[in-house]
Amino acid sequence: MPAPLDVCIRGAGIVGRTLALLLARDRLRVGLVDVPPASPPPHDVRAYALNAASRDLLLRLRAWPDEQHATPVTAMDVRGDEGGRVRFTASQEGVEALAWIVDVEPLLARLAEAVRFQPQVELLPEARTAALTVVCEGRASATREEFGVNFDSTSYPQRAIAARLECEKPHGGVAHQWFDDGHVLALLPLGGPQGNSVALVWSVQEPRADELLGLAPADFATRLEACSGHHLGRMTLLTERMAWPLQRAQADRWCGPGWVLAGDAAHNVHPLAGQGLNLGLADAEKLAQVLHEREYWRSLGDLKLLRRYERSRKMDVLAMAWTTDGLQQLFAQPAEAWSLLRNWGMRGFDHSGPVKRWVVRQAMGHAGNVLRTGRP
Ligand SMILES: Cc1cc2nc3c(=O)[nH]c(=O)nc-3n(C[C@H](O)[C@H](O)[C@H](O)COP(=O)(O)OP(=O)(O)OC[C@H]3O[C@@H](n4cnc5c(N)ncnc54)[C@H](O)[C@@H]3O)c2cc1C
Repeated sequence: MPAPLDVCIRGAGIVGRTLALLLARDRLRVGLVDVPPASPPPHDVRAYALNAASRDLLLRLRAWPDEQHATPVTAMDVRGDEGGRVRFTASQEGVEALAWIVDVEPLLARLAEAVRFQPQVELLPEARTAALTVVCEGRASATREEFGVNFDSTSYPQRAIAARLECEKPHGGVAHQWFDDGHVLALLPLGGPQGNSVALVWSVQEPRADELLGLAPADFATRLEACSGHHLGRMTLLTERMAWPLQRAQADRWCGPGWVLAGDAAHNVHPLAGQGLNLGLADAEKLAQVLHEREYWRSLGDLKLLRRYERSRKMDVLAMAWTTDGLQQLFAQPAEAWSLLRNWGMRGFDHSGPVKRWVVRQAMGHAGNVLRTGRP
């Protein structure tokens, strides 16, 4: 007879593993359902922009990847289609970095290692009964369906193409983003501060995605050089190109008696702001906190308790979903008047002082303040 579990986490992605480690530290007995896929998945070429709050959390769990796989972003340069431009620098904000670009596979490996050395966590081939079930199965979660949750989703007519490239010029720790004609192109620095490779996330309309994926590697790189204004010189593809369909989605209910959702199983946002996983990690941290602070007479699956978590996270997620959706819509408008307006808005925002500062703080997560390097 296996020992009874306090919490069963379904899904061993980054959010599921992080939550397992957090709850285990609280002496809870955790089961983590890790179902190996039928065939090995392709190597994930993505790299995530993680904010200071996520980094702080992963450092505490000893799961932060080494320097080579977590490149600090010391500046961000965002350009519109008609001369609009917004620049952010870590030094202006008085922080060590605005974000870190983290390789997905090394992060997953660090978390897997931490889980292996945590005796409170048991890896399970299938779900087991527990006082609380946490669903961390990602956007296509089957358990969410089983619980009868409505996942209200709107597809963007876009796909995000991801790949890695080597560049002629070093990136200097700068993350670049171009908003152009409804497309969003991001080149994120990789390989440490002196590196000259970048992670590409290119959100493009459906027909253009097919065309770009069909190009020969050298032609694809040439197209990218042109779209990025030859900013990083000549480019060479280092990996396959992979593509993801994009959607905005939110579960209508995040919890019920004895179960709760977290991460992409609860919400999806457009990747243009690089915030999906940051939101998921904040879910994990909040849920662990709510469970830790529960009244001694409440069970782990108590609905009132779980609603505290849902209430506290839903507003943050909604705000981020509206922001990313609003930006996506604003830059998708073809009319010239819209183009003038958005580029004028970008220039105004760049000089907006406190407003700009507030936005940067939000994007960095709450730990932004912890990482201040001196300036008040
Ligand atoms: C192109 C692109 C770029 C992005 N860039 C960023 C970025 O820069 N910064 C950022 O913060 N976010 C980014 N995101 C968002 C980020 O990828 C997700 O928010 C994040 O992966 C969600 O993690 P998760 O653990 O909730 O879900 P997932 O990563 O989807 O993990 C779910 C896990 O559950 C498993 N699973 C599924 N079903 C079951 C089941 N029935 N039983 C057991 N296990 C199951 C899956 O195999 C998987 O291991 C990006 C997304 C895209 C598409």
